Amino acid sequence: MKINLSNAVKFESRHNGPTEAEIAEMLEKIGATSLEELINQTVPESIQSERPLDLPKAKLESEFLADFKKLASKNKVFKSFIGMGYYDTIVPGVILRNVLENPGWYTAYTPYQAEIAQGRLEALINFQTVVMELTGMELANASLLDEGTAAAEAMTMLHAVKPRVKKTANKFFVDEKTFAQTKAVLETRAEPVGIDLVFGSIDDLDLTDPTLYGVMFQYPDADGAVRDYSSIVAAAKENNVMTAFASDLLALTLLTPPGEMGADVVIGSSQRFGVPMGYGGPHAGFFATKEDYKRQIPGRIIGVSVDKAGNKAYRMALQTREQHIKREKATSNICTAQVLLSVMASFYAVYHGPQGLKNIALRTHGLAKLTAQALAKVGLEIGSQTFFDTIQVKMNEVAMERVRGLALGSKMNFRYEEGSVFISFDETKTLEDVKKIVSIFATEEGKHTLNLDELVETLELELPEGLARTSDYLTHPVFNSYHAEHEMLRYIKRLENKDLSLVHSMISLGSCTMKLNATAEMIPVTWPEFGQIHPFAPMDQALGYQELFTNLRTWLTEITGFADTSLQPNSGAQGEYAGLMVIRAFHQNNGEGHRNVALIPTSAHGTNPASAVMAGMKVVLVKCDEKGNIDIEDLREKAQAHSQDLSCLMVTYPSTHGVFEVGIQEICQIIHDNGGQVYMDGANMNAQVGLTSPGRIGADVCHLNLHKTFCIPHGGGGPGMGPICVAAHLAPFLPGNPIVKTGGTKAVSSVSAAPYGSASILPISYAYIAMMGGDGLTNATKMAILNANYIKERLEGHYPILYTGTKGRAAHEMIVDCRGFKEAGVEVEDIAKRLMDYGFHAPTVSFPVAGTLMIEPTESETKAELDKFCDALVSIRAEIKEIEEGKADKENNVLKNAPHTSQMVLVGEWDLPYSREKAVYPLEYVKENKFWPSVRRIDSAFGDRNLMCSCIPVDAYASEEEMA
Ligand SMILES: *Cc1c(COP(=O)(O)O)cnc(C)c1O
Repeated sequence: MKINLSNAVKFESRHNGPTEAEIAEMLEKIGATSLEELINQTVPESIQSERPLDLPKAKLESEFLADFKKLASKNKVFKSFIGMGYYDTIVPGVILRNVLENPGWYTAYTPYQAEIAQGRLEALINFQTVVMELTGMELANASLLDEGTAAAEAMTMLHAVKPRVKKTANKFFVDEKTFAQTKAVLETRAEPVGIDLVFGSIDDLDLTDPTLYGVMFQYPDADGAVRDYSSIVAAAKENNVMTAFASDLLALTLLTPPGEMGADVVIGSSQRFGVPMGYGGPHAGFFATKEDYKRQIPGRIIGVSVDKAGNKAYRMALQTREQHIKREKATSNICTAQVLLSVMASFYAVYHGPQGLKNIALRTHGLAKLTAQALAKVGLEIGSQTFFDTIQVKMNEVAMERVRGLALGSKMNFRYEEGSVFISFDETKTLEDVKKIVSIFATEEGKHTLNLDELVETLELELPEGLARTSDYLTHPVFNSYHAEHEMLRYIKRLENKDLSLVHSMISLGSCTMKLNATAEMIPVTWPEFGQIHPFAPMDQALGYQELFTNLRTWLTEITGFADTSLQPNSGAQGEYAGLMVIRAFHQNNGEGHRNVALIPTSAHGTNPASAVMAGMKVVLVKCDEKGNIDIEDLREKAQAHSQDLSCLMVTYPSTHGVFEVGIQEICQIIHDNGGQVYMDGANMNAQVGLTSPGRIGADVCHLNLHKTFCIPHGGGGPGMGPICVAAHLAPFLPGNPIVKTGGTKAVSSVSAAPYGSASILPISYAYIAMMGGDGLTNATKMAILNANYIKERLEGHYPILYTGTKGRAAHEMIVDCRGFKEAGVEVEDIAKRLMDYGFHAPTVSFPVAGTLMIEPTESETKAELDKFCDALVSIRAEIKEIEEGKADKENNVLKNAPHTSQMVLVGEWDLPYSREKAVYPLEYVKENKFWPSVRRIDSAFGDRNLMCSCIPVDAYASEEEMA
């Protein structure tokens, strides 16, 4: 047998599901003679790319990892004392390996299908409980993107809920001692919506100002000082002024929680609860408020409800209030959040428990206090004497530079600001570190270093009256039972096993692109060279990251056919916002700041109008025809009518209906002719990469959902990344950062707290592109289109398929119409739940058309998996027919009773009018890989009526059950 030495397995053949033989079979089935023919029938010729992608040659997995390790080693891991909301932390091994590095957790989707998501829903309830109890508030959401955007959400939510007497008040006061990156995000978000943002000293705060509606403090503040705000909050209340606190969960284990001071909102980051700094993210921002504002709170809230058997079950609460669903009436656009990171933070709290957390806080505080005392003895002036983890050492410029040099020599990073060095401690720091620090400062002062023993002996927690926390927290058994690793391991696994993720079967969510998250792509994420870098570390310690950013920006720019890329936005929706702010700045720079109309097709994703409103734009809806295509005449009319004030069009391509609209270039032309810019929502880029591009179709800017098209896993509802790519004329306006120079020459202010968003997950998309190469990526797109058209072919005749292109082809996804089954009493939801019995997660339900399913298989699924999925849907269609023909009862049938749990079929008598086999093993393949939903159909309305968003005591629950 001949041996081919260069025949190693290409990564592409692992990422793309179908084999050569399967491709041939599938093409035959759909009636295309070749892949090229299929693509030509799908993608309009006029927009097809003129040349192949210009990207580096594809690497093998092993080759990539070896090369990437070299790049990573250009990052230098120094000890970080920089603080500012980012602290080093110890990720407990049991959480690192079994959550962060575990596809059972990271490949899950947002828990819309609650019956197969009870594990992460419970973890999120735990997270909410941690946030509520530590902040002392009544309600918390399940995460926001970061601390900066959480602060902005507080500012806008308080604006929306301010008391009547403050109806016209527009001023929001923020303590100047708030983290610089938070202030920058607040500035960005305040201006377009007309909020008058004022930074100042609390001592100058005039609460009687009739134009003032809200104030925000950082507690502890940016200088590390801890102040008692209770009298200010009381005075604010008297004056109908709302109060928000930016705070720190670890500090709140020792300090009086803002809730007890009367705060209306408390926000912050949960990063230091066991989530690596990762050069800025991803981390879970948190948001806590009062019960009164439950309908205005941004992001998702998880609540407790009951299933059909009356058992406790979790699900996303108040789903119809989800901010972006309010479209142009929304005040927030949050969609993808930071679920995986809030899950990690919640497990960290479960593992350590209240006493463990308190011990970590005490040790952290103790090291800070010891350092402050020692440095005072050396003769240095310390700032505030009341602090938690951060001390301020006042010194002149010259002395500061000497300290900087000595610290760098000891591989330590402090924070240097005018006249002060700041030193922040965390759980990773030790007495040895304090000794080094004291010796550095002593050397600088020309003194002998101190013996710390005596100070260590007398170290005590002393907080002024009113600031020392007296209330209990985390008393629920979940925070007091799993402190032994074996118990913790089993708890994590128990929750994981309740959730269906990509480790079980394909998740064909239309628009969400649940493709392979390859292990080789994920491995570098937990390398310390990426994890342990502070976002504001000196640039020469982050050269590996910088090289990664430069290459990735070049590649994404090439893929989108544009001129530049910003890696800052933390999600697709945030990319939309960033892109619109860039467009706005472009118009302003041209002296056309009055251009503020955003045209948005009625079929657009809800985040589009929400983002437009946040960017200060007026939304004008454009009609779509019965096929979901933009009504070009209506567009032309509206563009012309608004030619004086048109800002932009927001368009998804291929359309949200899964079709490459032929008129796209004309559409872009109409907008440009009327002085507008074209924003392309990049959620459907998986149908474009290598075949066409946003630049090619005539758009000016787009976002990419790296967690859809570029392989970052969905994490159960985040993290994500939503970089924006722009044409040359928009590049000068790409967003900046107050601390690290990023963005264009006329950069708009920050959209995220960190300069490069969630930097530590960028290696995933980098790895994907590096291992696929240009041809591999293009083949993936072709395969995604082939897989979608194969499903379409298999389902046609069983279900009506809505909206295909002019040549009868779907793009990368398709809409299956289920509205016709209403007569038989079958809703699309019943089909979604019945799919669980077949081991599948439902496709996207009721978006963009109510009563339909939108299926997107992606390129990563094999023909075998596609066939199983189609078999399931075909079989469900037969089950519907039984109802239609009266062979099955209209109420008591396999669809209405779905999903079926193991308890249902094993415990007690079986009295349903169909067999148990039919209930749980409806097809032969199910027997090999049965996934058991852990609860029965959940009653969402019940949960919304009795909103309960934290772990609740077992006995309190019993009474709720009786009510059901
Ligand atoms: C996913 C999606 C978005 C929102 O992106 P996030 O990353 O979840 O914020 C916007 N538009 C469309 C069409 C989408 O599918």
